[in-house]
Amino acid sequence: MTSPSYRCTWTALLVCCVMRPAHAEWVKRVTDGIMGTRITVELWSDDQAKADSAIDAVLDEMRHIDESMSTYKPTSEVSHVNDQAAGGPMHISKELFDLLVTAKHYSELTDGAFDITYASVGYMYDFRQHVRPSEAQIGAALPAVNYRHVLLDPKHQTVRFTQKGVRIDLGGIAKGYSVDCGIDVLKARGFTRAYVSAGGDSRIIGDRFGKPWMVGIRDPRKGEGEVITRIPLVDAAMSTSGDYERFFDENGVRYHHIIDPHTGHSASKVRSATIIGPNATRTDGLSKTAFVLGPEKAMDIYNRLDDIDAIIVTLDGNVIYSKGIEPARPAPAKSAAQAPAVPP
Ligand code: ADP
Ligand code: MG
Repeated sequence: MTSPSYRCTWTALLVCCVMRPAHAEWVKRVTDGIMGTRITVELWSDDQAKADSAIDAVLDEMRHIDESMSTYKPTSEVSHVNDQAAGGPMHISKELFDLLVTAKHYSELTDGAFDITYASVGYMYDFRQHVRPSEAQIGAALPAVNYRHVLLDPKHQTVRFTQKGVRIDLGGIAKGYSVDCGIDVLKARGFTRAYVSAGGDSRIIGDRFGKPWMVGIRDPRKGEGEVITRIPLVDAAMSTSGDYERFFDENGVRYHHIIDPHTGHSASKVRSATIIGPNATRTDGLSKTAFVLGPEKAMDIYNRLDDIDAIIVTLDGNVIYSKGIEPARPAPAKSAAQAPAVPP
């Protein structure tokens, strides 16, 4: 007969075995070449096969978005829109229609700084080949830059351009959107701790077991590994736009990939802007604004949005913060603060 104490030990051991979590770990994969950028997916999983299949699904989703929204692919839906939408209303997929509605929302929110029709001029730049349009070419194309030229009909799910010469490019929002889609894929499969990034756009679900994820903001004038600060994030998205991403310098002028819709030239009022918010479509849609409007006007907009924080590196290298994350300033020195008024 088994003694009660012996039985107790066995029961405790059995319970331990059942309750002990299966071996779990962080699984990370870095992939280059989708949407012309680097994709990183990292998640916490107790099953390597499930983790691999989830990461495959995230990358498939991103490839699909690239296929349908890239202007570098002549067969993409966006390229078809650019070819045909000036000719009359054109039926498009629900996914593209919804993203065009979202893009318009960010144009309105940013006083037109974010504008997907920047591409009416922007297509003439090739930053890799150091090609830029002449002033005459910019002048001729500029009237086509205006988000109001893109007419969206929700009833028929159509898009139409009001005039010839209008082109759209979703390069300023599609990466953030693809990150959100990737996060949705992971959530649907039950993952509760994960990080997805595409270029400068990233989003996080959950924490790192009681600790936040620490996401670095690159120093705009130093190498890739050099950061000006690290931001602790839990359940949040972050997008950084920088004038160092795609650019060439000519006669002391930097030509880079964020275009001022009002002038057709590179928008150069800041060096970098980082936006923190609830999802990456939103942070991507807002990160170009500071380049076009300048730090003060952009901060006014960011500070008005309750769910947004921002960190801007100005042209002279200063770092400025939105109200929600302003670092604590040292308290004024006691003697000065409490000094009795000096009689005149
Ligand atoms: P990344 O592509 O690394 O996410 P950004 O978020 O800064 O970088 O987006 C830059 C891209 O935004 C450009 O390459 C271009 O496709 C697009 N873009 C440029 N100017 C504008 C603008 N004024 N409004 C909307 N999109 C823009
Ligand atoms: Mg982006």
